[in-house]
Amino acid sequence: MNNGIAENIAAVRERIAAAAAKSGRDAGGVRLVAVSKTRSAEEIQAAFEAGICDFGENKVQEITSKYDILRGFTKESTKNRNIKWHMIGHLQRNKVKYITDKVCMIHSVDSLRLAEEIDRRSSASGVTMDVLLQVNAAAEESKSGVAPGDVRQLAADILDRCDNIRMKGLMTIAPAVKEPDDARVYFSEVQSLYDAVGREFKCERLDFDCLSMGMTHDFEVAVEEGANIVRVGTGIFGPRVYAQGV
Ligand SMILES: *Cc1c(COP(=O)(O)O)cnc(C)c1O
Repeated sequence: MNNGIAENIAAVRERIAAAAAKSGRDAGGVRLVAVSKTRSAEEIQAAFEAGICDFGENKVQEITSKYDILRGFTKESTKNRNIKWHMIGHLQRNKVKYITDKVCMIHSVDSLRLAEEIDRRSSASGVTMDVLLQVNAAAEESKSGVAPGDVRQLAADILDRCDNIRMKGLMTIAPAVKEPDDARVYFSEVQSLYDAVGREFKCERLDFDCLSMGMTHDFEVAVEEGANIVRVGTGIFGPRVYAQGV
């Protein structure tokens, strides 16, 4: 079951390094989030042992159950290293309360109402939550995310109303294009926005240093365009098999 996970991670890291070098950056500046949705605890452990600390999930239920299963594991087997969970999927407001004490970052904030709920629940958990604003760069109806032109307003509103949120940057999911290079225009647009908003609004609670873009199909192009977090699932764990009812 775990065959090849360590090798896949090494290969992905090499490709990240090459893409970073192409744009004159250091591979060390790109954080690899292993997207572990649908994957077993054993597969996650294999990736963790191969050096991955950051794991991305898109369902609250999966985060809470894996959090419980893997908590003991990380304590026993590591020195100074713990699994960090990233919420990368669409988040319903009524489920925010289950994860504010478990995740290190929420990548998918796209409305003030969601931010206000995260703010409230983070306060109750005694944390300041790191979030990314999800941008729907290609204006796809099927995707969540705020329109590029609405990012500034959302950032301003969150600054105004949400004391327990720290905005760390932007996240985007490129459209499913045939050639990875066709996604470049979207990554480039989100990168420009990231730069501009990070500069214009910079303060303690809006401190942009995370640009989350790129998945298995397109992470090299994303890194070339400035991504410093990539979210890779299939490229690490192989094709996903969705169990019935999941
Ligand atoms: C599933 C998922 C990924 C990873 O997709 P792969 O193509 O398997 O690398 C990245 N980001 C989000 C938001 C996802 O839901």
